[in-house]
Parts: sequence; structure tokens; C-alpha cells
Amino acid sequence: MLPRDGKSFRDILDHAEFALKSASGSQGCICAYEPSMHDSIIGNTEMEKALALAIEKNELHLFYQPKIDLATGKIMGVEALIRWIKPDGTIISPDVFVPIAENSHLIGKISDFVLNEGCRQNKMWQKMGYPNIVMSINFASTDFYQTDLKDKVFEALAKSGLDAQWLEVELTETLALSDVNFAISQMNKLRELGVKLAMDDFGTGYSSLSYLQTLPITLLKLDRSFITDIEHDNIAYEIVSAVIRIAKSKKIETIAEGIENQVQESILRMAGCDYAQGYLYGKPMPPSDIQKFFEENAKI
Ligand code: C2E
Ligand code: MG
Ligand code: MG
Repeated sequence: MLPRDGKSFRDILDHAEFALKSASGSQGCICAYEPSMHDSIIGNTEMEKALALAIEKNELHLFYQPKIDLATGKIMGVEALIRWIKPDGTIISPDVFVPIAENSHLIGKISDFVLNEGCRQNKMWQKMGYPNIVMSINFASTDFYQTDLKDKVFEALAKSGLDAQWLEVELTETLALSDVNFAISQMNKLRELGVKLAMDDFGTGYSSLSYLQTLPITLLKLDRSFITDIEHDNIAYEIVSAVIRIAKSKKIETIAEGIENQVQESILRMAGCDYAQGYLYGKPMPPSDIQKFFEENAKI
């Protein structure tokens, strides 16, 4: 609005651009210009440039966090979690750069890397003689809504030689819900390839049990926020065990995220949860460390 948001028509247009950039990502809202947007956008643009360079210089790496079968204690999979490792060794967390990548074309490059590297690494472990495990990768909503998604996944599998049953894609519910019908058709296409589908962070947002009915998922990941309280909070326990029961009746497997102690583990095992992931077993680690983990775990 003139003159509040700028002195001239030109200023107003520029500032409207700023507001538009700040709003992208948040859906269905009206976003007005504020002077503070300059700082965050200029900060993000700097970060975007640095990130683009980091991708070219191969500074992005995958760390792997083990997923454990609660019935046997054996590792059944790993989740690939991206890290930006600067030349001086500083590690930047995905919470910092993934949202910025999501607001630019960079997320596509990152996801291509994660998909191809995850498949390559898993096939390599199979060739090295480690027991077969499922590689889970995270997709952002912009990736998931690409019409060539199935082709890209198919190509990554073909190129690496990895069988589809050893790849799992993790999706969040907000992602699935932006356009439910399209999401279901995308999910079915991935299922046709034989790839597994997990619903990540279940229990945050507006998780509805009806998703278990409508979405073709194979695994439900119970969010860490439920697990943290499960020892003390009876309601959290009741919710988790009800969700596990319902998932089971739909032949959907369950995994608990963020298990940090043995008490949480035994509660979840009693509730019928299939798998577990969390610092109790291992933090996300570089390939050489997870290979040591495989070797130790094989002795159990
Ligand atoms: P997420 O997919 O829900 O990943 C789980 C996060 O929980 C990871 O954080 C992991 O380090 C952390 N975590 C696991 N076990 C425990 C535990 O016992 N205690 C605690 N306090 N935390 C635990 P991370 O690696 O920082 O990743 C954060 C988020 O960034 C991920 O959440 C995921 O949404 C996103 N992300 C990571 N890698 C990628 C990627 O390659 N592509 C995309 N699109 N997103 C990614
Ligand atoms: Mg995940
Ligand atoms: Mg999660």
C-alpha cells in the first residue's frame, strides 16, 4: 500500500516481490510487506547461493541412522539423512538448509542426489556381503508432486541395480495432503515399482486415522513427540497403542522414532510396535561408522 510500504510505484513493486518470496511455502495466506523481510530474504539468498555452490563441490553427504527390528534386535534398515559438511568440517543440519532449498530449484538437485546415492550405497553394502536392509529416503513435497517421479525412481533403481523392495520413501502427512488425490496416484505409481512407502512424523499436524485407510502406505512412523512422553503420559501411551493396533489391522507396519532409553523401548515392544529408531541404538552416522554398526549388530 502506498505510501505505507514504499515511496514510489517501483518500490512498492519490489516490496511486493519480497512479500511474495516470504509467503511462498505457506499456503492460502495473505502476506503483507514488512521491512524485516529484507534481512531474512537477503540472508536466504546468500544461503541459497552458498548451497548451490556446495552441491557443485560435493559438500552434501548422507548420514545413516539404524532402524531396529524390536523382535530380534537386528538392524532392518537405515534412514538416509542429509548433511552439509563444509571444507572446515562444520556440519550444517538439514533443518537449516532444506527449507531454503525447498523454496528454490535446489531441492530437486538435492533429492536427485539423495535418491541416487541412497540406492548406490545400499547396493554396495549388499555387494560387500552385509545383510539386506531397507534404505529410507526423505522426499520434500516439491519432489513428490513432480510428474516424472516414478521415472526418476525407476532410473535410480536401474542405474544402481538395487531391487525396489530395498528402497523406501518417507513422506509427511502435510505433503500428502496438499492434493490428496494426486498424492495417492503418485504413491500408487511408486508402489507399482515395488518401492515401500512410509508416513513420517505421524502424530504431528492433523494426522487422521483415516489416512491409514486411504493412503497406500506400508509403514507408519510414530513421531518422536509421542515417544518422549510415553513413560509418564498415559494418554500418549493409549494413543500410540491404539494407532499401532489399527495400523496392524490394515497390515501396515509401525516404527517408533526418537527412542532414547530402554523403558521407552519395552513399552513400545509391549504395545506391538514392529521397529524402532533413535539415539538408544545410534545417531545418524557416516557410512564408515554405520558399517561398523552392521558388524557389531551381526554378532547379537
Ligand atoms: P525426519 O525425517 O523426521 O528425521 C528424523 C530426525 O530425528 C533426524 O534429524 C534425526 O537425527 C533425529 N533423531 C533420530 N533419533 C533421535 C533421538 O533419539 N532423539 C532425538 N532428539 N532426535 C532423533 P535430522 O537428521 O536433523 O533431520 C531433520 C529433518 O530434516 C528430517 O526429519 C527430515 O524431515 C529432513 N531431512 C533430512 N534429510 C533429508 C533429505 O535428504 N531430504 C529432505 N527432503 N529432507 C531431509
Ligand atoms: Mg524421515
Ligand atoms: Mg520423522
